Amino acid sequence: MKININRLMSAIESYATYGQVEGCGVTRPSFSKADYQVRNLFIQELKDLGMTVTVDAIANIWGTLPGTGEKEKPIVMGSHLDTVPNGGKYDGALGVLVAKEIIETLREYEVTLAHPLQIVSFTAEEANEFNFSTMGSRTLSRRLHAEELRGASDKTGTTLEAAVKKAGGDLSKIDAGQQNAMAAYFELHIEQGSKLENQNLSVGIVDSIVGIYRDLVTVEGQQNHSGTTVMKNRKDALVAAGEMVAEVQKLAIALDSDTVATIGKFEVFPNAANIIPGRVDFTLEVRSADKTERDALIRRIHDSFHSIQEKHEVNLTIVNSYNMQECDFDKELINFLEEAATEMGIPYAVLPSMAGHDAMNLAAMTKSVMVFVKSINGISHSPQEFSLPEDIEKSANVLLNALLKADQTL
Ligand SMILES: [Zn+2]
Repeated sequence: MKININRLMSAIESYATYGQVEGCGVTRPSFSKADYQVRNLFIQELKDLGMTVTVDAIANIWGTLPGTGEKEKPIVMGSHLDTVPNGGKYDGALGVLVAKEIIETLREYEVTLAHPLQIVSFTAEEANEFNFSTMGSRTLSRRLHAEELRGASDKTGTTLEAAVKKAGGDLSKIDAGQQNAMAAYFELHIEQGSKLENQNLSVGIVDSIVGIYRDLVTVEGQQNHSGTTVMKNRKDALVAAGEMVAEVQKLAIALDSDTVATIGKFEVFPNAANIIPGRVDFTLEVRSADKTERDALIRRIHDSFHSIQEKHEVNLTIVNSYNMQECDFDKELINFLEEAATEMGIPYAVLPSMAGHDAMNLAAMTKSVMVFVKSINGISHSPQEFSLPEDIEKSANVLLNALLKADQTL
C-alpha cells in the first residue's frame, strides 16, 4: 500500500497559505488568527473523511476512525500545526498532513484497522507568548497542570484561558478527564539537522530524544580602569570566561560523538571600552542521547571551569537551570519501522533527535516513536526549510506500513 504523494504535496501547499507572509515563510503561532483558521480547515477536512472530531481541554484536535472492534485502544498519529514566526511549511504540519494522507489512503484501499485510528494536532508545540512549549502534549501527559496554565497571558493581555476557549478547549476541565489510553503513538517530522543528508538517506527512524542540560554561569573578577591597571594586577572576568568558552568547545569536540555543548548567551558587565570587565554571565547547554557521556562531559567542563577560575583568581558560580532527561522510544515500534523500510527496500538510519518534540511527552503515557524526513541543508525554523517530495513519500510509506504491522501485532 502506498500514499498519494501529489495529494499530500498539494495539502502541504494549501496549509502553508494560512499565515503565509509574502517571501518570509509562515507565521502561524498557536491562538493567532491564522491558527484559528487552520484549525477550522483541519476539523472540516477530518469530518469530510468520515472521522469523529473532538477538541480536548487544552484544545488539541482529535479525529477518530473506528476500527473493526477487535481492539479497543486507538493507534494515534500526529504532530502540530503551529509554527515559529517566519517558519517553514514542514515543521509540524508535515506530520499532521502525512497522518491525514495515510487515513485517505486506507479509505481508498478500503482497509479498516483492528484498532481505532486517531489523528491528533497538538496545541502550541513551538515556543510561544504564553511561555509553554509542547503545551498540548505536556498537558495531555499530565506534565503540565491547570494551576500552572491558569494565570498565563500574552503581551496583549489575552489570557491563555480565553485563547484556549476560543479554540474549543476549557482549562477548567484539564485535570478532571481521564488520561487517554492509547495503543501507540507515531509522529513523522522533518529532521531539522543534516545527519540524513550527510549519509544520503531519505528516512530516519528515531530511537531517542536527547536530554537537555543547562547551567547559568557567573564569573566575577574585579572591575577597574583599563588604562591605570597594569596587566599583572588584573582580575579580568572576560578573559577567564573566554577561556571557559574555548574549553567547552574543545572538550565536546574531543568526544567525537553526537553529544553537543553550546554557550549561546553571553553578557559582559559593564561592557565598556575603558573598563576591565568585572562580571560575565553565560549559559552552558549540553545535549546528548547518552546519559553517561553527558554526565561525564558536564563533570569535565565543570572541572575545567574551576581550574580556569583558580588560574585567574576570579569567583565562579554555576547554577543548574534546566535538566530534562533523555527519552527512549519504544523498541517494538522501532522494529516495525525498520521492518517496513527493509521490506520496501528503503535505506534508513536509526538516530536520536537533537530537538524536543510532542512524541517525548507521549512516551510517558504510551508506546511512542518518530520518523524523520531528510531536511535539505539541515535548515529549519526558517522560510528556507525544505524537504524533497521523494523523501517525504518514502518516509510516509514507511510509516504507513509500520502502522499496519503495529495494528496486527499490538
Ligand atoms: Zn515541530
